[in-house]
Amino acid sequence: MFPFVKKSTQKDFFIAKLQAFQKLIENHPVQTENFIDSLTHFSKIFQAESASLFLYESKTGLFVLKKWTGTKPSRFSISVEYEFVDYLRVKGTAVHRDEFSQKTANEMRQPALYYYQQTLSNLVVPLISEGEWLGLLNIKVDLDTNDHQWLFESLCALYGDSLKKWMLYQRVNEQNKKLNELSHVKNQLLSNVTHELQTPLNGILGVSSALMEDPQLAPTYQDSLKLIYQSGKDLSKTVGNILELVQIEAKKDHKNREKINIIDLIQEVGLLYADACQKNGIKLIVPQSKQTLFVYAQPDQIRTVLMNLMSNAVKFTEEGQIKVDIKTSGEMLQISVSDTGVGIDDDKMHLIFEEFYQGDGSHTRTYGGTGLGLAIVKKIVSLHGGRVWVDSERSSGSTFAFTIPLYPV
Ligand code: ADP
Repeated sequence: MFPFVKKSTQKDFFIAKLQAFQKLIENHPVQTENFIDSLTHFSKIFQAESASLFLYESKTGLFVLKKWTGTKPSRFSISVEYEFVDYLRVKGTAVHRDEFSQKTANEMRQPALYYYQQTLSNLVVPLISEGEWLGLLNIKVDLDTNDHQWLFESLCALYGDSLKKWMLYQRVNEQNKKLNELSHVKNQLLSNVTHELQTPLNGILGVSSALMEDPQLAPTYQDSLKLIYQSGKDLSKTVGNILELVQIEAKKDHKNREKINIIDLIQEVGLLYADACQKNGIKLIVPQSKQTLFVYAQPDQIRTVLMNLMSNAVKFTEEGQIKVDIKTSGEMLQISVSDTGVGIDDDKMHLIFEEFYQGDGSHTRTYGGTGLGLAIVKKIVSLHGGRVWVDSERSSGSTFAFTIPLYPV
C-alpha cells in the first residue's frame, strides 16, 4: 500500500498511523463534503502540536488558510510566487525545518525559516497532484527527520491525492448544481414562451374556423383558410407538447402518485382510438378483464403515455391490428402496445426517443407529428422508475413496451 519497507517498530507505528489516516480520508471526505475537516483527525493521529491547511486559489495566485489546529498561524495567505513556495514545488516532497539548520548555508534559509515561523510548523507538505498545485499542509511534529523521510513522502502522496479527489468531487458537484439551475431556467423560459404563444394561436384558430363557416366565402379563400387553420392546429400541438414536457419535471414529486386501476385506464384510452381504428379497418385489442390491477403512478401522466403510444400506433398502421398487453414482472407491471404498421429501421431505433426526432422527411410529411411524443413517454416512465423500449421490424410492425411500479415506492 505504501512505497516503503518495514524497518523498525517506530516505523511500524507510523505505518499504522498512516494507514489509519488513509482509511479515514478514503471513507470520509467525499461523503462528508468537507475534506478540510480531516485536518483535525490528521493532527490527532500524528499527535501534531499544530497543523494548518492552505488551499491554492488560481484566481488570486494565493494559498489561503482554510483550517488549523492548535495555535492559529500568523499568516493567512501565501503567494505562489514566494521563493520558498517555488522551492517546495521543485522539491515536490515534504521539507523539514532541519534542512535549514545553522550548519547549512543555504540561500533559501531565510525565506524558509520565515515560512516555518509564520505557519508555526517544522514540516511543510506541498500538496501537488499531477503537476497541479492544490495546497500546503504545515505541521508541527516531533520527528526525527533522517529516519522519517519516507513518512513525509507518503504523507505528500496520500494527502495530495485525496485532496485532488475531494476537489474533483467539489467541482463536479458545483457543475451539477449549475446544470440544474440552467435546466430550471430553460424550463421556465420554455414554459413562459409556450404560454405566450398559446393565446395568439387560439385567436388564429378561432377566427379562421369561424371564417371557414361563412358560406359566402370564395372557394380559393376556403382553401387558404383551411391551410391557416391546419398549420395553427399543428403549431398548437407542438406548443402543447413542449409545455407538457416542461410540466412533467415540475410534477415529479411522489406525492402526486396514486393507486390506479390500470385496466380501466387502458380501456378508457382504447375507447378514444376505437373510431379511428374502425375507420381504417384496424382491429383494436385491449385487455378485457373485469378484474382490477393496481399500479402506483400519476394517472394523467400514464394516460399521456398510453395516448402517445396509441396515437403513434394508429398513425403508423394502415392495416392489421393494434394490441395492448399487460404482464407483471417482479415489482413492475409491463404494458406493451403492438402494431402491424410500417415499423422502424434498425438504425433509427436509438433516435426515436430523442426530443424533436421524427422519422425521415417523407415520413413526417405523410404522417405529421411533433417528434415529442416518445420523448414525453420516456420522461414520464423514467420519473416513475420504469423503462421504455421498442422492438420493431421495417414493414412488419412495432411493439413499444414500458414498465411502471405495482407498489408504492
Ligand atoms: P411523432 O410521432 O410526433 O413524430 P414521436 O416522438 O411520437 O413523434 O415519434 C418519433 C418517431 O418515431 C416518429 O416520427 C416515427 O418515425 C417513429 N415511430 C413512433 N412510433 C412508431 C410506430 N408505432 N411505428 C412506426 N414508427 C414509429
